[in-house]
Amino acid sequence: MEKKQFKAESKRLLEMMINSIYSQKEIFLRELISNASDAIDKIYYKALIDDTLTFQKDSFYIKVTPDKENRTLTITDTGIGMTKEELENNLGTIAKSGSLAFKNENELKDGHDIIGQFGVGFYSAFMAADAVTVISRALGSDEGYKWESENADGYTIEPYDKKDVGTEILLKIKENTEDENYDEYLDEYRLKAIIKKYSDFIRYPIKMDVTESKPKEGSENEFEEVKEEQIINSMVPIWRKNKSELTPEDYENFYAEKRYGFDKPLKHIHVSVDGAVRYNAILFIPEQMPYDYYSKEFEKGLELYSSGVLIMEKCADLLPDYFSFVKGMVDSEDLSLNISREILQQDKQLKFIAKNIKNKIKRELESLLKEDREKYEKFYEAFGRQLKYGVYSDFGTNKEDLQNLLMFCSSKEKKLVTLDEYVSRMPEEQKYIYYASGESNERIEKLPQTEAVAEEGYEILYFTDEVDEFAIRMLMTYKEKEFRSVSSSDLGIERKETEADQDTKANENKELFQSMRELLSGKVKDVRISKRLKSHPVCFSTDGEVSIEMEKILNAMPNNQNVQAEKVLEINTDHEVFQSLKDAYEKDKEKLGLYTNLLYNQALLIEGLPISDPVEFTNDICKIMV
Ligand code: ADP
Ligand code: MG
Repeated sequence: MEKKQFKAESKRLLEMMINSIYSQKEIFLRELISNASDAIDKIYYKALIDDTLTFQKDSFYIKVTPDKENRTLTITDTGIGMTKEELENNLGTIAKSGSLAFKNENELKDGHDIIGQFGVGFYSAFMAADAVTVISRALGSDEGYKWESENADGYTIEPYDKKDVGTEILLKIKENTEDENYDEYLDEYRLKAIIKKYSDFIRYPIKMDVTESKPKEGSENEFEEVKEEQIINSMVPIWRKNKSELTPEDYENFYAEKRYGFDKPLKHIHVSVDGAVRYNAILFIPEQMPYDYYSKEFEKGLELYSSGVLIMEKCADLLPDYFSFVKGMVDSEDLSLNISREILQQDKQLKFIAKNIKNKIKRELESLLKEDREKYEKFYEAFGRQLKYGVYSDFGTNKEDLQNLLMFCSSKEKKLVTLDEYVSRMPEEQKYIYYASGESNERIEKLPQTEAVAEEGYEILYFTDEVDEFAIRMLMTYKEKEFRSVSSSDLGIERKETEADQDTKANENKELFQSMRELLSGKVKDVRISKRLKSHPVCFSTDGEVSIEMEKILNAMPNNQNVQAEKVLEINTDHEVFQSLKDAYEKDKEKLGLYTNLLYNQALLIEGLPISDPVEFTNDICKIMV
């Protein structure tokens, strides 16, 4: 029979995983049981909404059978089964969506990262087995198939006579090695413990034949070993349990079992509501950003159950976009089982639950910020950007809800501060909440535009995310204080120098500024005396709505509309360079042109904007050097 190769990527991934340093090989059992449970969920749901399918409720189960003599472990389920195509597609390839491309080699070396991230849970079987056989018959098909793979080195597939619908996974358990005891996966007690630890909450019975010592029939003191089928798991789903009965480990295990993430949850939220609409929910805030969070592949949503039956894997309507990082599930008795997606969107109960959940998450984040700053900052580093998008999107509808969760790096604290902290520290005469935008904190710190505000001793918020300025424009004010960019034309700072002084200077140099304006016409809106510069000779400020940072971002977008900020070239008249400008104006008009261009290009460079003719710029510098 022809042996098919795993897709090239799969092979590489498999090898890495199988030989990986993954410390807990035992999780393979959790993976296989969880797949079996998923498969039963599917058939169970089908049976509920399709009257032509009739099943006995007790016909759904998972069975684990160790066989010490033959060194095999079998996991049987009465789930929906797999067709030949499904066996090939689901087990014969990993990284179906090409998601592997997101990861680099280094990240892949870590076992945690790989397992399941690409739906490779099944492959974890090879951590404990040399060979894996999958015999399956799909619902609605009258033949079964046998899929086999040795050492994860390609696979074969052939028809196989299987009586019932469902799947049987047979593992040929590895021989013990010096540092690994594989025998334990054949040991009843050990298996029981593993099932209890990871799969206790599985809703279907996980059965195993357990050896018991029983008195022999007709005898008082003679015992015999009898195999007795037992149900190992408690079958009570975690969300139906009392919070007080559960430990953080229980939630962590649930998070891992459900494949919500490969990190540990940063926080869990367990909700039980018994009001107008009854529901239970377990929500998690992950510790790390999922690798595909900002890709098109990422789908937000919570699992939705109706009276314990999974009816939707990712119900997007349960989460606002700004909380799209939240993982978890909702179970409600008040939702109809065979509700269609379209109707679900209109569903009053669902809307009610969604609103409740939104408020709950918000409150939990607020209390995290208050009570565990370190944890909150960790959260914020991973998902803060999403909150800022939330402030900006939907025309600012949610800004009130989110403003207290925002944080920005501060010029004074050199760490994240909340808006409330900023405002509460503002000196009385300070009019505005100041911010400066740039690529990084280091770059912003050096921006000439920050000089005047910094000199007043005012704190400046550093905006390094693209969305920051947009979000703040949407917010407009916080506690009645307006936000103001350090580059805006009016800083609201009373300078020591009198306005009259400024006017005189402007008057004296009227013609010079007029010439410069003409030289830069089409490039800047105006050339002015700067009120904000101290040590630097030149910078840009902006009139109007669009800042330079916004211009950059908008023009980097695919539907680039060539947005232009109204740039104003500001000149520091106290700087020595200004004297040179004056001299040039009086004596050498060509030199004035040269200097003006140089200053303009310098202002561009400071902003991280491209200069239109770099060669000319360098030639200009050479001109003044010789
Ligand atoms: P995931 O469970 O994350 O999708 P797995 O590697 O664990 O990834 O499983 C891959 C796929 O193989 C599953 O999505 C499912 O379609 C199929 N599968 C695995 N085990 C079973 C099973 N026991 N019964 C039916 N289908 C299964
Ligand atoms: Mg799985």
